[in-house]
Amino acid sequence: MEKKWISTACTLDCWDSCSIRAFVEDGQVKKLVGNPENPVTGHFLCEKGYKHIKMRNGRKRLIKPLIREAGALREASWEEALDLVAEKLLKLRKDYPTSALLYISEFGNSGVVKKADQRFFNAFGGVTMPTGSLCAGAGVEAQRYDFGKCLAHEPTDYLNSRMIIVWGRNPVTTGPHMVPFIKKAQENGARLVTIDPLPSETAAMSDLHLAPKPGSDGLLAMYMIKVLIENNLVDMDYIEKNTIGFHYLKEAVMELDKNQVSEVTGIPYGDIEDLALEYGSTKPAAIVLGFGIQRYSNGGDTVRAIDALGAVTGNIGKSGGGVSYNNSVSQGLIDEDFLKGTGLAKEKRTYDRPLLGDFILTEKNPPVRFIYTARANPVNQGMDIEKILKAFKSVDFKVTLDMYLTDTAAASDVVLPVKHPLEEDNIVMPPANHSYINYCNKVVESPEGVLSELEILNELAMRLDLGSFPLLSPEKWIEIITQPMRGKIDIELLKEKPLKVPGLLDIPWSDSRFFTPSGKFEFYSETAKDEGFFPTAGYRGLETEVSKEFPLYLITPKLRGSLHSQHFALVEGDHVPTVHINSTKANELGMEEGDTVSVSTQMGSIKAILKLDEDILPDRVKIYQGGWTRKGGGINRIIPERYSRMGMHAAYYELVCRVEKE
Ligand code: SF4
Repeated sequence: MEKKWISTACTLDCWDSCSIRAFVEDGQVKKLVGNPENPVTGHFLCEKGYKHIKMRNGRKRLIKPLIREAGALREASWEEALDLVAEKLLKLRKDYPTSALLYISEFGNSGVVKKADQRFFNAFGGVTMPTGSLCAGAGVEAQRYDFGKCLAHEPTDYLNSRMIIVWGRNPVTTGPHMVPFIKKAQENGARLVTIDPLPSETAAMSDLHLAPKPGSDGLLAMYMIKVLIENNLVDMDYIEKNTIGFHYLKEAVMELDKNQVSEVTGIPYGDIEDLALEYGSTKPAAIVLGFGIQRYSNGGDTVRAIDALGAVTGNIGKSGGGVSYNNSVSQGLIDEDFLKGTGLAKEKRTYDRPLLGDFILTEKNPPVRFIYTARANPVNQGMDIEKILKAFKSVDFKVTLDMYLTDTAAASDVVLPVKHPLEEDNIVMPPANHSYINYCNKVVESPEGVLSELEILNELAMRLDLGSFPLLSPEKWIEIITQPMRGKIDIELLKEKPLKVPGLLDIPWSDSRFFTPSGKFEFYSETAKDEGFFPTAGYRGLETEVSKEFPLYLITPKLRGSLHSQHFALVEGDHVPTVHINSTKANELGMEEGDTVSVSTQMGSIKAILKLDEDILPDRVKIYQGGWTRKGGGINRIIPERYSRMGMHAAYYELVCRVEKE
């Protein structure tokens, strides 16, 4: 009986990209453990990571292709399904410009090799590709204006912090590998503050939790800067040497009125002042940003205001300090041009991710006639998914690649089952939370007959005679696309253990060489101005506010046990969500725990089960996202297509509702 440990990594769309050691016995994966060779992700995985084995072995995992016939999906052979997809691709190319094909791809499972599908479609002639963001885009753009790009402190550096502000993030649930470092910092005397409109596990372990009204965080940060200026707690030496445009910021914050700030944020100004004074007088102090704060129409401005807070206090470039958001340390390590076939496309068109349904229904030049979806579930995760569903129905032919019959797969004409990430080689570049590269060695064989996404593309390329898409194995792809990192990273060693990107500063921006046009931190950004935005951070309100008709804020965070909708594949029974509400509000509405209620927004209503939650404030409710639409979930049915212009980013959390007893 053969037993072995194999080095791999978690490919889920997560901050952490954990390094994993997989124990294989007799050709079966028996156990996954964290690989401590990665000092950030260490020896443990989260609930979702441990579920990889269940997801791989799931009872409802698709093994055979499905083809729609007479309205229903039936099993088909690979030959029949691939021939049909190839035939439809050829017909599309004959009848329309190739941009009539819409390619939808997200981060359902990461790994560089998977991006080869972009080369396939560029070689095909060029199709409609996604732009904008459903994830972190507004904040990424904001930090581009301020710093020139995103760089985050390694969580290990929080051990050097005397104060940590976790802002709009719940790492206990969504990226737990920073939590041991935060706890250790607390043991060493650091104070932990969480700023989040909702209660959370992270808030519960904090010394202070402030819960501003959703989307008002930027104003909170701006007012904190005013308090710091008034109390001589700004670091003028740092500002003069390393930044430009401070007087514009100062002008903006000095106009703020404390009563108005309190009213908009819902936080007494005394509490805001206390926090500002503490932050300004405790060095070093780290701010750890989440993606939640920028899921509003003003999301980019919010991140710029918080960046400014870090810069005025001189916390940038200091060990234990920083404003950490995302981490762009992979540039230049992968041959992206070869991988994506840059230059092969004759046709070029993009669609904005938050406006998917609208694009499909209204675009005429050419109209969308074919949708190819991989690593994504837009019929569940997009905005206004009733519209997306209608849009899907309006398109002649839809192909989805997935392991399960997701909402998107169920709305498709052909479903091609794919390999689980443990069943193929890949390479995972550093995520938002650390700087380690992982090689995913194939751990186990896939069920007989199941193809990987790459093998599917190879089959289609042969049928289409697509000469500029090379028919390669994943290993060969990795050999080619990792050429730029040869000499810096030992690929053979990488197969054995995670390796840190070489040549990085220990502390981002400690050399004070920013990637902005001025080379300094920019409180005032000409780039932002040239691109149509305000040059300086500011609070510019929201597009939606509570009203008589919709008196409650509705926030839809992530569940601990599922990465978006993925792990709901394992949930038997219905996926009707739970709406969390304060008992004071529930009493006022005449509702009790367990009641079936309807939650309505401007888009319509969804059924939910009421759960009392004393930690949540009475003006807001929470529903975890991810449940499948056709099983009674699909909270995104009632989320409109709203976005932050900065980053063309989905404003999922800018939502107001009413709750009524059914
Ligand atoms: S989901 Fe995130 S935290 Fe969990 S195992 Fe995967 S990478 Fe690690």
